[in-house]
Amino acid sequence: MMRLPWYGKTVPHGVLDILRGCNCRCAACYNAAREVECKPLERLKEELAVLRAHRNLKAVSLSGGEPLMHPQVLDIVRWLTDEGLVAASLTNGILFTDDMAAKLADAGLRMISLHIQKGQTRHDVRNGDFRGLLREKGEMARRHGIFPAMVETVKADDRVGFCEMARFFRETPAFEYALVTVAGDFAEIRSDVAHPDVPVETMLVALDAEGFSPAVFVGGRYRRKVPRWYIFQSVQAIDRNGREMAWNRTRPGLVERAFLWGYALLFRKSLHWVPTTSAKLKARLLVNGLAGGRLSTFLFALRAIVRGWSVLEKHIIVQLPPHSLGDGRIECCDNCPDATVRNGRLHPVCLGDIVEEAPL
Ligand code: SF4
Ligand code: SF4
Repeated sequence: MMRLPWYGKTVPHGVLDILRGCNCRCAACYNAAREVECKPLERLKEELAVLRAHRNLKAVSLSGGEPLMHPQVLDIVRWLTDEGLVAASLTNGILFTDDMAAKLADAGLRMISLHIQKGQTRHDVRNGDFRGLLREKGEMARRHGIFPAMVETVKADDRVGFCEMARFFRETPAFEYALVTVAGDFAEIRSDVAHPDVPVETMLVALDAEGFSPAVFVGGRYRRKVPRWYIFQSVQAIDRNGREMAWNRTRPGLVERAFLWGYALLFRKSLHWVPTTSAKLKARLLVNGLAGGRLSTFLFALRAIVRGWSVLEKHIIVQLPPHSLGDGRIECCDNCPDATVRNGRLHPVCLGDIVEEAPL
């Protein structure tokens, strides 16, 4: 596996936590019960300045609570876009209607991460069909030119949950990214009590069975070589009806490795999401297959070109929850790609409300 060249100021992404409170209920979330409290734009400007002082940002994601409940969300998206940033947002999708999607797209929103899954208490799901609702919202985002990702929380030992998630993801052309958080009990974290590493065997075996292999990782804050973000890479060829015609597990080739590390070293900014087209992706896969990737990747791209199939990237990112090393250190992701600002300092989103003594 290749370590992602996201370190120090090169980390291109940060999170603005724009409000507390949510219109949905998820079992493990502390936000739902809260009163809605929104941060004013002026305060967000100060927080963005702190984020920018620490990293060379390319993209900023809005989180909360439920970001779309913020009455100024369109102004916030417009402001981030005017700042030259890729504006993204997390959402449970309840307020992400056709009309809202049009307004967000018009304001400049580029990406939306949809958290819609079984176990949520929400009024907009019909007959318990959470997957149907997720697919519908993902396709709607695409129609408005907003790139959708699916977000899911799965327990480390839930083999069926990982398999089902991966199968849905593979069968749904609207999604090219799935962001999976392995559930953790943050309230239990005490810096003086050691917790064992989160077991990853079940997740690795389940995703392998569904066609996904880990190719890239982000390590730990203290143990850089121990993966905490597992990035599984595959590519899929589909016909006109969206049916899968071919599948290939990819890994970074020499050209990609050199490009990613060279870009980070040269510009002090790592690459973030770069939108691509099927034609560009095929060209990249041909080069990848010949230069340090897999020969099967080259043959996959060649077949797709000859048969006229479209090609999609299918990436699953699995994040492990933080845990205590027992000696005062809380182990979490190196340079936390999802860092946010609390009291003028950078904190991992996952620890911000619980462990105040863990700034980055
Ligand atoms: S949708 Fe998100 S913010 Fe709302 S309750 Fe669920 S996890 Fe919490
Ligand atoms: S440390 Fe950062 S990237 Fe890792 S799980 Fe927590 S918020 Fe996410």
